[in-house]
Amino acid sequence: MRTKGAKVKPGDKIYAGNMGKAAAFFVIGKKDLALGMNILGAHIDSPRLDLKQVPLYEDTQMAMLDTHYYGGVKKYQWVTMPLALHGVFVKKDGETVRVDIGDRPGDPVFGISDLLIHLSSDQMEKKASKVIEGEKLDLLIGSIPLKQETDAKETKDTVKANILKILEETYGVEEDDFLSAEIEAVPAGEARDFGFDRSMIMGYGHDDRVCAYPSFQALLNVTEPEYTAVCLLVDKEEIGSVGATGMQSRFFEDTVCELLHLAGGYSELSLRRAMRHSKMLSSDVSAAYDPNYPEVTEKRNAAYFGKGLVFNKYTGSRGKSGSNDANAEYMAKIRNILDHRKIAFQTSELGKVDQGGGGTIAYILANYGMQVIDSGVAVLNMHAPWEIISKVDLYEALLGYQAFIEEA
Ligand code: MN
Ligand code: MN
Repeated sequence: MRTKGAKVKPGDKIYAGNMGKAAAFFVIGKKDLALGMNILGAHIDSPRLDLKQVPLYEDTQMAMLDTHYYGGVKKYQWVTMPLALHGVFVKKDGETVRVDIGDRPGDPVFGISDLLIHLSSDQMEKKASKVIEGEKLDLLIGSIPLKQETDAKETKDTVKANILKILEETYGVEEDDFLSAEIEAVPAGEARDFGFDRSMIMGYGHDDRVCAYPSFQALLNVTEPEYTAVCLLVDKEEIGSVGATGMQSRFFEDTVCELLHLAGGYSELSLRRAMRHSKMLSSDVSAAYDPNYPEVTEKRNAAYFGKGLVFNKYTGSRGKSGSNDANAEYMAKIRNILDHRKIAFQTSELGKVDQGGGGTIAYILANYGMQVIDSGVAVLNMHAPWEIISKVDLYEALLGYQAFIEEA
């Protein structure tokens, strides 16, 4: 973030990154920052399989990578499908080497095996949470042994040795560089139109990029808002918003401090006011009504494809526990803005009372005393490798987010 130079003025676009994993984007408004901001917040991490720190091994001439799943997944959904690898190796000298393999045409893919049905009589008796266990999510990545000089003494693990040779040639890394790598296995392939009428999109990571993307686009669409407009994209939501790049870190608050400093008006009081007077849409996906599983939703308070931007006044589980419960006055203000612009919206709960639940980043920002409500796009197959959304819902979300930052 820029800390020297010209003062900020309305219309200025400023951003701050956080370790390459989170970012805050601002379009400076006409009003004083201490009067509050209009914030669109979403998370950009998604459930996936992370490589362990010591992941590489060979078993019976097959090279494997051991993983540790990230976020809430039904493990049985991640086997026998093409996976891509994305991430970085960081070498001891600080050089960062990007890994992106499996998503370009012609790239190889990777994957996790599952038992053939013919030998699954024991496995098929297990309950769904045990049918594929976390330690069985190891990726198969190679099967050719390294060609050896005839007079060389025999090396063990020749298939692993061959993989290491390929990694050295491709990325310039050695086995120990896995110690300082962050590489994730995700479903390989592009997002695709879904349905004869092409009304839907199937893709990986709609939770929560289907909200992050229109949030960012909405911010780009405003030029000189009344209140400073913010798009806040954070990491680690799927594991509790923890760590330096999650919503619970001081990153956003510190960035607002820097901004007040640039504007020449920093004080503890102005910071507190800027946060407390802000309004936020915590933009995260909601569960779409599923005709295959009507029993988990209560029909009057469910989100449906094609009915627009979803508002969850509260989330949580077992009696709203862990929820941010937005107040009625704030919901009224938002209804008014959306109705005025003829933007389609719906309200919902994640599912039936006592059926389970979930949380978002909403409660964390609400701790500052700002107005926060959960809003987002309805998703089918949430947290599965391939999630589905409705195109019109995504479009109404974009319009709704823009209306919010212009008029709230
Ligand atoms: Mn989410
Ligand atoms: Mn999620």
